[in-house]
Amino acid sequence: MNVEKILAKLVSFPVLGGESNLTILNWIKDYIESHGVTVHLVPNEEGSKASLHCRIGPATDGGVILSGHMDVVPVAGQDWTSEPFVLTDKGDGKLYGRGSCDMKGFLACCLATLPQMVKANLKKPVYFAFSYDEEIGCLAAPELARAIRTQYSETPKYAIIGEPSLMQPIVGQKGIYILETYVNGSAGHSSRIKQEVSAIHEAMRLILWLEGKMDQLIADGRTDERFHPPHSSIHVGLVRGGIAPNVIADKAYFYWDLRTIPMDDIESIVEEFKSHCRQREKELRKIFPGFAIKTIENHPPVPHLDTKADDDVVELIKKISGNSKLDTVSFAAEAGQFAKEGFHSAICGPGSIEQAHRADEFIEREQLEKGMEFMDKLITELSSDNFE
Ligand SMILES: [Zn+2]
Repeated sequence: MNVEKILAKLVSFPVLGGESNLTILNWIKDYIESHGVTVHLVPNEEGSKASLHCRIGPATDGGVILSGHMDVVPVAGQDWTSEPFVLTDKGDGKLYGRGSCDMKGFLACCLATLPQMVKANLKKPVYFAFSYDEEIGCLAAPELARAIRTQYSETPKYAIIGEPSLMQPIVGQKGIYILETYVNGSAGHSSRIKQEVSAIHEAMRLILWLEGKMDQLIADGRTDERFHPPHSSIHVGLVRGGIAPNVIADKAYFYWDLRTIPMDDIESIVEEFKSHCRQREKELRKIFPGFAIKTIENHPPVPHLDTKADDDVVELIKKISGNSKLDTVSFAAEAGQFAKEGFHSAICGPGSIEQAHRADEFIEREQLEKGMEFMDKLITELSSDNFE
């Protein structure tokens, strides 16, 4: 099967983030096994989803993990001019379909090169690491990266995450954390605003505290010009509370996110917010003893990626992609999670992130070819006695 046929097959599985992925998983598993390679699954608790990984080549330290996700984002409400789950060639050099670019194009390149990898005389191994639920917060990758570390007696060195980057090496990614904060105040007639504790008023103060925290980080010079914007951002995107203009709200809540540059620490910012909340609770319980603020996780934190420009993985990607301009991104990806597990990690894959998540998502044929060349050169590298 050539890369386009494989891509068409992968696109035909409409597996969204959050859904069971067994259909696409089993197809990929069967395909890999038909080439004589053993596949390991990392299932969720219910067995309704699983990541997969496998090794091609010798059980030797220093191999390369090729990582991608099998899920895609929804198409509902988007204005598609072709069938989203049918890979469509409109004769303009582009292949249209949901996931064609993000990131089944990369998976197709991996799978299409598998027969060659199996035949090659690899001195260092290649691993495939394909996850699920990436699009709803990179949920499966930490477990997958850990499984790879524990499954094999040898230790892989590199992880290349094939998110669309036009085959450019991406070495930085902000950390991301999404939280929900619930404020419990006391209800009453609006005229009693000084005797009760309005959950809305308190929620607004907390929101302003968060904004102030962001501004303080900027004022302290905590910036990293590799990123846009160059500072950590803190943002509230949803607020709910109250029932009427003349009723003091006893409940209010808001959802917020933190996107941190590598020099800032997600946990310590959240800890500072929580300690501010505990202080507010202490003060306001003098007016209303039941006053409470609770902050819970909406999504587990996705760690940042901060791979140094002279890291071995950067050298490797530069060599096989021919691209030497390093970049950073502001979207969440699994690269930081693989880095946290100790692998030298960077993002590099075919297609442009600009086409991701949109109606009429596409990948250019030329990008797929570049992805295939990348795989070819990787095999050559890994077959060389000098590869380290
Ligand atoms: Zn993606």
